[in-house]
Amino acid sequence: PKYVYDFTEGNKDLKDLLGGKGANLAEMTNLGLPVPPGFTITAEACRRYLEDGGVPEGLSDEVETHLVALEKGMGKRLGAADDPLLVSVRSGAKYSMPGMMETVLNIGLNDESVQGLAKQAGEERFAWDSYRRLIQMFGKTVLGIDGELFEGAIDDAKRHKGVDSDLDLDAADFQRLVETYKGIVREQTGSDFPSDPREQMRLAVEAVFESWNAPRAIIYRRQERIPTDLGTAVNIVAMVFGNLGMESGTGVAFTRDPGSGQQGVYGDYLQNAQGEDVVAGIRNTVPLQELEQIDPASYRQLLDIMKTLENHYRDLCDIEFTIERGKLWMLQTRVGKRTAAAAFRIAVQLVDQGLIDLDEAVSRVTGDQLAQLMFPRFDLSADRRRIAKGMNASPGAAVGKAVFSSEYAKEMAGRGEDVILVRRETTPDDLVGMIAAQGVLTSRGGKTSHAAVVARGMGKTCVCGAEELEVDAQERCFTAPDGVVVNEGDVISIDGTTGEVYLGEVPVMASPVVEYFEGTGDRGDELVEAVHRIMNHADERRRMEVRANADNPDDAARARRFGARGIGLCRTEHMFLGDRRRLVEDLILASSKDERRAALDALEPLQKSDFAGILAAMDGLPVTIRLIDPPLHEFLPDLTALSVKIALAGDTASSRDRGLLEAVKRLHEQNPMLGLRGVRLGLVIPGLFAMQVRAIAEAVAERRAAGGDPRAEIMIPLVSAVQELEGVRDEAERILAEVGVEALIGTMIEVPRAALTAGQIAEAADFFSFGTNDLTQMTWGFSRDDVEAAFFSRYLDLGIFGVSPFETLDRSGVGRLMTIAVEEGRATRPGIKLGICGEHGGDPESVHFCHEIGLDYVSCSPFRVPVARLEAGRAAL
Ligand code: PEP
Ligand code: MG
Repeated sequence: PKYVYDFTEGNKDLKDLLGGKGANLAEMTNLGLPVPPGFTITAEACRRYLEDGGVPEGLSDEVETHLVALEKGMGKRLGAADDPLLVSVRSGAKYSMPGMMETVLNIGLNDESVQGLAKQAGEERFAWDSYRRLIQMFGKTVLGIDGELFEGAIDDAKRHKGVDSDLDLDAADFQRLVETYKGIVREQTGSDFPSDPREQMRLAVEAVFESWNAPRAIIYRRQERIPTDLGTAVNIVAMVFGNLGMESGTGVAFTRDPGSGQQGVYGDYLQNAQGEDVVAGIRNTVPLQELEQIDPASYRQLLDIMKTLENHYRDLCDIEFTIERGKLWMLQTRVGKRTAAAAFRIAVQLVDQGLIDLDEAVSRVTGDQLAQLMFPRFDLSADRRRIAKGMNASPGAAVGKAVFSSEYAKEMAGRGEDVILVRRETTPDDLVGMIAAQGVLTSRGGKTSHAAVVARGMGKTCVCGAEELEVDAQERCFTAPDGVVVNEGDVISIDGTTGEVYLGEVPVMASPVVEYFEGTGDRGDELVEAVHRIMNHADERRRMEVRANADNPDDAARARRFGARGIGLCRTEHMFLGDRRRLVEDLILASSKDERRAALDALEPLQKSDFAGILAAMDGLPVTIRLIDPPLHEFLPDLTALSVKIALAGDTASSRDRGLLEAVKRLHEQNPMLGLRGVRLGLVIPGLFAMQVRAIAEAVAERRAAGGDPRAEIMIPLVSAVQELEGVRDEAERILAEVGVEALIGTMIEVPRAALTAGQIAEAADFFSFGTNDLTQMTWGFSRDDVEAAFFSRYLDLGIFGVSPFETLDRSGVGRLMTIAVEEGRATRPGIKLGICGEHGGDPESVHFCHEIGLDYVSCSPFRVPVARLEAGRAAL
C-alpha cells in the first residue's frame, strides 16, 4: 500500500486514511491557501505499526522519498548546518482528539544547525529558544521524561536571573538551558539527545504512532465512543515560526461563534509565540480583532481565507494559523465543534444563506444534541459543592429536599415541596414517590435498573448507582464519601445529564425547546425557530412512525404534543400499584373460583377506565396495550419484611398476612425474569388476561359510543412459541366478538426463540413489537437489573463493547435476531406491522438500525419522541 501522501495528493474526504488534520491540510493546499508544504503518513501505517510492533515494510523508503522532495521544494536540507529545514511531526486521527496525542516541533535542530538557524533568522535568541523547545518536547513525548524536570529548569533559570517571564530570558540563557536539558536527557535515559535530524524525525513518528494507545487517549475515545482500532495519521510539515519577534505570532479563529452560531470574527492571537504557548496559557492572548491593528494585511487576508473556507466547507470552520514576519500561514482547519444550540442555529443559517439545503441541515444535527436542548440544566456558573457521582440515568437537573420513602415524598409534594427521592434502589412500589419527586437518586443499580427505566419514561431526572453513598432509609439519611451527612429535609441537587450530586441548591434554567414542543414556547426565539424548521423537515423525510411508551393519559397527551403518532407500549402492570395492590393480592390469595372471579370483577372497571383515558388521549391513533407482564411476586410484600412482621405479631398475626406469606413463598423465584411472567401468567392464572381483554374491549366500545375513534391493539408479552399465543388469541377474539369491537392482536418479540420462530408466530400475530430490553437480556444472558452496576465498566475497559447493549442495540447479535424475525414474519404475513418498544426505540443509533431493517415504527418514552422523529428523518436521508 501507499503509506505517504504529499499535501498536494490528498483531499478532505480522505479522513480515514490521512486523519482530519492531514485531509484538511491537503484540501487547503489544493484551494491555493498558504499552507506550509508537507506530507502525511497514513493511519493505515500506524495500524500496521501497532499490530506488528514495528515500522511496516516500505514506509521508511517512502518517507525518505517525500522528505527529499520536500527538501528540494524548500531549497533546504533537514537539519543542515548552514540553513536548516525544520519540520513538525503532528498527530491527526480521523476524529479530533484534542491534546490526547503527541506533536513535536522544531525537528532538525542540533548543535550545528542551531547556528545556521540563528544566522538565517538573524536571531540568536530565537534559535536557542527553538532548540530548547525541541529537546523539551522530544524529551517528554518521545523519550517519556517527566515534563516537570524541564519546566523546573526554566524556573530555575528565571529565578537565577530574577525575572518572571520567558520573554526576559536571552540567547545566552537559552543556550545554557539547552545544556541543562541535554543533561536531563542523559540522566533520565542513559543516552545523549539524538543529534541526527533524520533519527529525530523517525523517533518522533514512532512516538506519535504509539501515542494512539496512551492511557488518556484510550479514556477519551471511550468517552467519545471513537473506535479503538483506527490509528492516527502523522503529518510532517515544514516549520514556520510564530516566535520570530513581535511581527510574528500564532492564533486560533472560528468562522462563527461556536457557542451561539453568530457569524463574526472569533478567536485569539498571541504575538511572538508558538502554538503550544497559547494552549499552555503561559501568556495572555488578545482577541482576534486586535490583529487588525497589529498586522492589518495579515488580518484582511485571514478574513478572506475564513470566508473561502466557510463557503467551501459550507460550515463553521475552526482554524489555527501562524504569522511569520508578516507572512500568514494556515496550520490547520476543520469543521469546528459547537454546542447543541449552535448546531441547530448554524444549520438553519446556512440554509438561509443558500449554502446547504434542508436535507443537509437535518443531517448536520443529531438526536443527542436535540436531547441536550430539552433538559433543564444547572447554571454551572453558580457556586456548587459536589458530594458524589453516580450514573447519568435520566438527564435533567433537579433540586429538592432529600426524602427516603415514597410515602413521605408524596406527602411532602402534596404540601407543595420539591423533593428528591433517595433510595438504595427503587421497586415498582416507589412509583408514587417517583411521580411526586423532582428527581430520583439511588445508590444501587445501572442504567436499566427500575429507577432508571421508569425515570426516563417519565422524563424525570435520575442519578442511579451512586455507590459511594451510604443510604440508610431507617435513619433517613445518607453519607457521602467526604463524611457529609444529608438528613431528610436537607436540600440536594442532582444532575441526571452528568450523574453529579451536589449539596444544597444549584440554580436551574428551563428549556425553551420543551416549551415549544409543549406548545407554550416562544417561536420568536432563534433557537426554537431553528428546531421547528429542522423537525418539520425530518418529519417530512422519515419513513418510520414514532410512537410513545406511556401508561397514563397525561403521558399519552404529552407524547402526542411531542409528535407521537400513537402508543407503542402501554405497560398495564403500572396500573396495579398503589391502592389497587390489595385487589391484586386478593386475586393471588383467591382459594376458590368465586373468590377469583370477585377479585377480577373488582379490577376490571378500574382497568377499563384506565384504557378509556389513554384511548381518548390518543383518539384516532393506535394504542398498543400490553397484557400484564411481570411476575406476580412483584405485587406482594417483601418476603423478609413480611416474615418479620408475622413473627413479631406472633399469635395475633392476621390470617390475611399468613395467607400472603404462603403466597409469597409459593411465588418466590430464583430468577424471576425467566420465571412465571408474561404470556405464561395468562395461561396459568385463569381469567387474568380475559379480564384485561374485556376491559380493553369495553373501553373501546365506550369510546366509540361517545363518538371517539379508539384504535386499541392488544399485545401479548414474552411469547416463545406460537402455541402460547394461539391459546391467548382465541380467547381474546372470543371476548372482542362478544363485546362487538375489533382490535389487532399481536405479540412482543423479546425471547430469542420467538425471533427464531417468527415465521410460525406470525401465523397468530397481526403485529410484532420488538422488546429489545428482554431480547438483549436473553440474547447475551445479561440480567437487566444487575450487570451494569456489577461489571459493565470492566467490559467497557476491555473493549468487549464500546457502549452498553442495553443502551445501543447490538446489531450483530440482537440485531441479527431482529432481522431474522422481520424477514420470516413478513414471509408468513406480508402486511404484518413491525415496531420496537424496548429502550432502544429512543436511542439514535438504534433508530437508524430499525430504519435499515424496515420496521414500521419505533416507540420510546415521551421525552425521547422528538429525538426519535429527528433520527428517523436523518436515517431516511
Ligand atoms: C422489553 O423487554 O423490551 C420491553 C419493552 O418490555 P419490558 O421492558 O417491560 O420488559
Ligand atoms: Mg420485556
